[in-house]
Amino acid sequence: MKSRRWLGRIGMAAAIWMGSALGLVRGAAGQVNDWLLPGPNEVAAVEQLETAGSSWTTGDKSLLYIRVDFSDMPGDPVSQATVTSNMAQVNANLSHYSYGLMTLPDVTVSETFRMPQTAAWYGENNERGRLRTDALAAASAAGYNTDDYWSHIFAFDRIDDFSWAGLAFIGAGGVWLNGAFNVGVITHELGHNLGARHSSFWDTTDPADIIGPGK
Ligand SMILES: [Zn+2]
Repeated sequence: MKSRRWLGRIGMAAAIWMGSALGLVRGAAGQVNDWLLPGPNEVAAVEQLETAGSSWTTGDKSLLYIRVDFSDMPGDPVSQATVTSNMAQVNANLSHYSYGLMTLPDVTVSETFRMPQTAAWYGENNERGRLRTDALAAASAAGYNTDDYWSHIFAFDRIDDFSWAGLAFIGAGGVWLNGAFNVGVITHELGHNLGARHSSFWDTTDPADIIGPGK
């Protein structure tokens, strides 16, 4: 009950953040910055939310922030200092929106791992899934127990072939940051991990939509 009420609040907050995040990215790309993916075990995750929501959406959470680079796009995508500072603000946001019911005090920032494929390859093949599994594999190989974390962030320099700046599982851990490492995008995407969908957001850009393309 309690967790449902606070999810409503973060849904609103997510929508507000969405607006600012869209503004940020639209200036450059002119397209929607954010995409949702069903969780890898969405049915199980949804059931978990229905029956035991408090265990997923409340309490002190941990997150592994995995930075990755590519042979054709080398270098840290974002500095450790920036990550630490931004995640402290994200934690403050989550605590505030949840009335203190959920916090993210435990954030581990990895070194930058070189991915086995080029950035061009992931982008051209739309292989966000492989990027995730390759990043998790690299972190595991470096000694991180990736299963121990409530969520993971995969952070990389912008790959233009990905049409989004942020991507997240709904109701399960996992966030992709495509060159957008700011507090607003991260808070928004973690709202999706908590189970929140977009509210008050009308997007008819899908050509298959009955209403047709346009906003
Ligand atoms: Zn979103």
